[in-house]
Amino acid sequence: MPLIVQKFGGSSVANAERVRNVARIVTETFRAGNDVVVVVSAQGDTTDDLITKAAELTQKPPRREMDQLLSAGEQISISLLAMACNELGCPAVSLLGWQAGFQTDSRYGAARIKSIRTERLQVEIGRKNIVVVAGFQGICKYDDITTLGRGGSDTSAVALAAALRADRCQIFTDVEGVYTADPRKIPGAKKLSEITYDEMLELATLGAQVLNNRSVEMAKKYHVELEVLSSLTNKPGTIVKEVTAMEKMLVRGVTKDSEAARISVIGVPDVPGIAFKIFSKLAAKNINVDIILQSVGRDGTKDISFTVSRTHAPEAIELLGKLDILDGLTVTCDTAVAKISVVGAGMETHPGTASQMFEALFAEDINIQMIATSEIKISVLIEEAAADRAVAAVHRAFFPEE
Ligand code: ASP
Ligand code: MG
Repeated sequence: MPLIVQKFGGSSVANAERVRNVARIVTETFRAGNDVVVVVSAQGDTTDDLITKAAELTQKPPRREMDQLLSAGEQISISLLAMACNELGCPAVSLLGWQAGFQTDSRYGAARIKSIRTERLQVEIGRKNIVVVAGFQGICKYDDITTLGRGGSDTSAVALAAALRADRCQIFTDVEGVYTADPRKIPGAKKLSEITYDEMLELATLGAQVLNNRSVEMAKKYHVELEVLSSLTNKPGTIVKEVTAMEKMLVRGVTKDSEAARISVIGVPDVPGIAFKIFSKLAAKNINVDIILQSVGRDGTKDISFTVSRTHAPEAIELLGKLDILDGLTVTCDTAVAKISVVGAGMETHPGTASQMFEALFAEDINIQMIATSEIKISVLIEEAAADRAVAAVHRAFFPEE
């Protein structure tokens, strides 16, 4: 019998009516003759609300207790969904992460799945139960509850699909699939019928919010084909897989990331070892650096600019302050920036993509502060105030309205 893993995000189970809607989708899949394992996130803003509750008591909650707290959100949604499935006449059983066999490392708040012991799951599937599993959580070797990091339920679903060798893994959300740009902001955005893992990974990392990037990494590693679709409309979604049948598209999507900050160090000595000293200091504290730009040396000095996520910016500046080689130099930090990216596997063989993007920005009189490219993406850093206009202009350039 085919086995289908279906994942529903927080907005898809936000209230009783939505839970009932999900139960309808799940039970229909079950009645059509499939074994069904469902992964759900916490209802609506529950996880944020729990974080707020902790913040009312302490600025430094122990991470173990934070995981214990946040895992409660998913416990609510799985039990409610199992009840709703039973109400519709299909037997369902809910399992917390540990009951479903999710073994993780003990990095509380950012745990990695090490393995899934599927015995209990297999038993429940064999009993012809719909199995409803709490996403985003597992258990570590100390028998403590762990969580996988925000948006982690996608990863739970992909991991389950891989462990159970599911025939399909469907990720239900509140948009109809993966679009060429955020459909809520860009009216001309088009739904893609297919996209490769690599393209999806870039889009997810660069700011598209439809799939968590770790889940895409895992899907690629274990060859789990994903379907992203809406729980609210009954339409085909987007398939994420290794190779798409479609011709390589020059540009598959345009994204905006408003979480960046640009840090610049002005007038560093133009001698070997400076970049090493700066970036090893940041790496030692796990601060991820994205775009790096170094000016040509002049009069024995040069400037180095780079971007980090906004949340890391204060710590990065503090660390630079501790470097003797930067003593007395000006370090600036600009958080009013945004990163706009175009992604597409076809640009590998199309040299004109960058200039087409730059032309669209020029036509809008938008200044480019930094540029970074890889085989399948081009990112530019611009002032944040122009970000939405930039996405619209770049999108128009690559996807002209018919
Ligand atoms: N409930 C968790 C969060 O909001 C996990 C998830 O939604 O995937 O981050
Ligand atoms: Mg959530």
